[in-house]
Parts: sequence; structure tokens; C-alpha cells
Amino acid sequence: MTQRYRITLLPGDGIGPEIMAVTVDVLKKVAAQTGIAFDFQEALVGGAAIDATGSPLPADTLAMCKDSDAVLLAAIGGYKWDNLPNDSRPEKGLLNLRSGLGLFANLRPAAILPQLIDASSLKREVVEGVDIMVVRELTGGIYFGQPRGIFETETGEKRGVNTMVYSESEIDRIGRVAFETARKRRKKLCSVDKSNVLEVSQLWRDRMTQLAAAYPDVELSHMYVDNAAMQLLRAPKQFDTIVTGNLFGDILSDAAAMLTGSIGMLPSASMGANGPGLFEPVHGSAPDIAGQDKANPLAQVLSAAMMLRYGLNQPEAADQIEQAVLKVLDQGYRTGDILSEGMTLVGCKGMGEALLAVL
Ligand code: NAD
Repeated sequence: MTQRYRITLLPGDGIGPEIMAVTVDVLKKVAAQTGIAFDFQEALVGGAAIDATGSPLPADTLAMCKDSDAVLLAAIGGYKWDNLPNDSRPEKGLLNLRSGLGLFANLRPAAILPQLIDASSLKREVVEGVDIMVVRELTGGIYFGQPRGIFETETGEKRGVNTMVYSESEIDRIGRVAFETARKRRKKLCSVDKSNVLEVSQLWRDRMTQLAAAYPDVELSHMYVDNAAMQLLRAPKQFDTIVTGNLFGDILSDAAAMLTGSIGMLPSASMGANGPGLFEPVHGSAPDIAGQDKANPLAQVLSAAMMLRYGLNQPEAADQIEQAVLKVLDQGYRTGDILSEGMTLVGCKGMGEALLAVL
């Protein structure tokens, strides 16, 4: 029986519509081959939504997203909206979308593709074979804890305050996502904390250790965040899945992603408790190359693969897309951002055609 999914597409701004068009073609082709059917519905977000409605996240868009099986976003923002007040900027649309969908888990893979190994700033032997998934808690920790603010003390001196706080239930729900994610990979989970100094991390470590009992097939280890930063650069191959809090995850996921050296290749997923997940490339709207058919669509295409694997539980379809990406790179096709000597330069559309040809 054909499995049908309703997918909300949010092309957004800048290169967004270009990379989304390629991705939709790829999804249609894969669907036809795997017995899946997609009902796509498109909505406005970011600058495009501001221009049309005055709001970066119109109520209709959020409602449509909630009423779908998954949300595929391209990118938002651009020069045109840079001078708007913070609350009405395109970026606010994205933040409101994440909180509106209750997305508390952010999954950021960092896998070195053999074809692009020279794009990494680290030595080939250090990064060859790296395949890491960072699971970051997204809606708690020090970015949201109370009290927060800049307060004046009795002596008139100012004090800046933020609070790192995690409750057991917050730790457990991100922990479950991380164990489930590790289960779909090489079944090794490293929980990163600072439990030698922070009580909040001691609770984090306790809960992760207790959760492990329910996942006997996953090997759990713990690491302090300072060591984790060092190990990511020294010997990144030791990691499979990493789980950590909001602040540590913000920093470590960027560090891990940059092991790969190419921003146009990096997908991400944000997941909630049971509603639809949000799948988007790590890069922005690249206004400097928008509308010129120069964008690399592969991060967006790989975000669609993450949607299939983690959002819709369709691993075969996800594999097909990931294999197609590897094949076009093997064939030597490169957009400008990942071009190296001897390779064939293609535009966004050309890369899309190459993908369809191998699929
Ligand atoms: P950016 O990621 O858009 O661009 C950084 C550089 O990388 C640019 O030179 C760009 O041309 C290049 N680049 C990015 N993606 C590419 C791709 N797919 N193919 C080829 N080259 C690519 O970051 P920025 O310049 O700091 O921000 C531009 C706008 O995007 C801003 O308005 C920012 O707020 C927004 N932004 C949005 C998101 C998002 O939607 N999640 C994330 C980051 C930035």
C-alpha cells in the first residue's frame, strides 16, 4: 500500500526557492520508486512572508505546518529586511516556528564525504571516515533559564545573570531522542556535560545513565565538554552520536560540522515530542548568490533525506537520496562553493538534473 505524507514546504528567501525546487523534484522521483506519495503544500515564512502579510510567521503558515507530517524549510533572511526591529525580522519567523512546533531536539550530522575530504581544514588521516551526529537540546538550558538579565547591585555595580537549568523530564526526552538516534546508527552514544563543576550536569549524567538501562543495545559513555571539544579536533572518528545541552551543543555542533569544511553540504533536523519535525540546511539564504543559479542544493536535498529517515521513518528512500548525492559527486559535478581542480562546474539546476539522472 502506498504510504502518503503531507509535507509543508517553506522555500523562504534568497536561494531558498532555487534549492527547494531541486529538492522537490528529487523527492518526487524517489517517491515514485519507493511506494511513497507526497502531498506538498507550500507556505510563506521569513522575508517573503513579511512582504506579503507583515508577519515573518503568519498564523496560516504555523497552522499548515502543525497539520503536516513534516516541514521542509530552505532558508530565510536577506539584506532587504536587515534594518527591521528584532521582533519583526525574518529570523523571528524561524524562532517562532521552532517554538510553535515544540522542537526540543536538534540533530546535526557531520559526515565527511570521501569526495570532499580536501575541503576540511584538518589532515586527511584525521577526518577520513568521520560520521558524527550531534543531538542538541534546543529549548532549555542556559538560553531560557530564569532568572536572567542585567541587574544593578546595592553598590550600583551591574551584574549579568543567566541560569543553566534542566529538569529530569527535559533531560529524559532529549535523552530518548539521542538513544533512538544512536540506535539507527552505530549504536554508540557519548553524553557531553560538565558534571565535574556543574550540578545541572550531574543531574544530566545521572538521568542519561538511568535511561541507558532501556537501551541495552546502545553503548553509553560520558565526556566533559572541554575534553569533547579537544577530542573532536584530535580524533573525531571516536564519536558516533553525541548528546548534549543547548549551550554546549550550540558550540560543539558548529565545531563538528566544520570538520567537513563545506557549509553548502550540511543538513539538520529539529524534532518535537510527537508533532512534525522541521528539516532544513544549516546554511542561510545566501543573498549574495540568490537568483543566479549558483547555489549548492545538496544541503537541502540531504535535509530531505533526514526528513525521510528521522521524520517519516523511511530509511530506504533516505538511503537512495544519500547514495545519489555521493554518485553525482563521484561523477565530478560540483557547484562553485565546493569546486576543486578537474571537477565539472554546474549550477543549482544542473546539480538537480545530475541527481535526477542517477536516481
Ligand atoms: P549564509 O549561510 O547565507 O551565507 C554564508 C556564505 O556561504 C555566503 O557567501 C553564501 O553565498 C555561502 N553559501 C551559503 N549557502 C550556500 C549554498 N547552499 N551554496 C553555495 N554557497 C552558499 O550566511 P549569512 O551570509 O551570514 O546570512 C545570510 C542571510 O541568511 C542573513 O539574513 C541571515 O540572517 C540568514 N540566515 C538564515 C539561516 C536560516 O534560514 N536557518 C541561517 C543562517 C543565516
